[in-house]
Amino acid sequence: MARQFFVGGNFKMNGSVKQITDIVEHLNNAKIDPSTEVVIAPPALYLLLTREHLRKEIEVAAQNVFDKPNGAFTGEISVAQLKDSNITWTVLGHSERRTLLQEKDDFVASKTKAALDGGISVILCCGETLEQREAGTTVEVVTKQLGAVAKEISDWSKIVVAYEPIWAIGTGKVATTEQAQEVHAAIRGWMGKEVSKDAAEKTRIIYGGSVSEKNCKDLAKEKDIDGFLVGGASLKPAFVDIINSKQ
Ligand code: PGA
Repeated sequence: MARQFFVGGNFKMNGSVKQITDIVEHLNNAKIDPSTEVVIAPPALYLLLTREHLRKEIEVAAQNVFDKPNGAFTGEISVAQLKDSNITWTVLGHSERRTLLQEKDDFVASKTKAALDGGISVILCCGETLEQREAGTTVEVVTKQLGAVAKEISDWSKIVVAYEPIWAIGTGKVATTEQAQEVHAAIRGWMGKEVSKDAAEKTRIIYGGSVSEKNCKDLAKEKDIDGFLVGGASLKPAFVDIINSKQ
């Protein structure tokens, strides 16, 4: 079964009203492969602006969401508030939140469940540090991160898994096609055993970490790489070339 190619743009804490308006306009005017699913994740403050002006075929994602429905949670945004604003996706478990904000596997899992229960699709990130890779524990690390989610949910149809080796994020040091394919295949194998054959076959597993217009075409050829989560390059015009990397 062919999995639809998926490209996400994670703007992180970048952009201004002017810059985001310019990016939206660029995407609105770009020739985009209609067979690729595209989702962009601007900072929370610009979600509404983005949704209002962006062409409808492109979806908008939050970069995070909280797992409580409403109430006294200063600084947080709920799943219902995303829905209310026509935001249909969220990124969860990004390594920057796991490391800088100490988000633990079970918290990421709880937020994933809350998002799915509330009808929001999830780009679920996982990935190892350089030390973990060198120690040979990459697959153990990522399957533990995903395993916490598998304890909370059984339906993976609204999840895209983003494998993002931490040593490749924002460093310009992209994983080789072999390194990425090997981990993607291992994640798919794990899903087949721990979730279901169906989930293993259908879940998109995308790669993130220094993806650029230069390396995307080769990565996109690998059989278990179903797209990308793009950070730095998603703020640049070349993001369109990455979206179109399957063409
Ligand atoms: P990068 O970030 O493309 O800038 O390496 C990817 C990510 O963190 O999602």
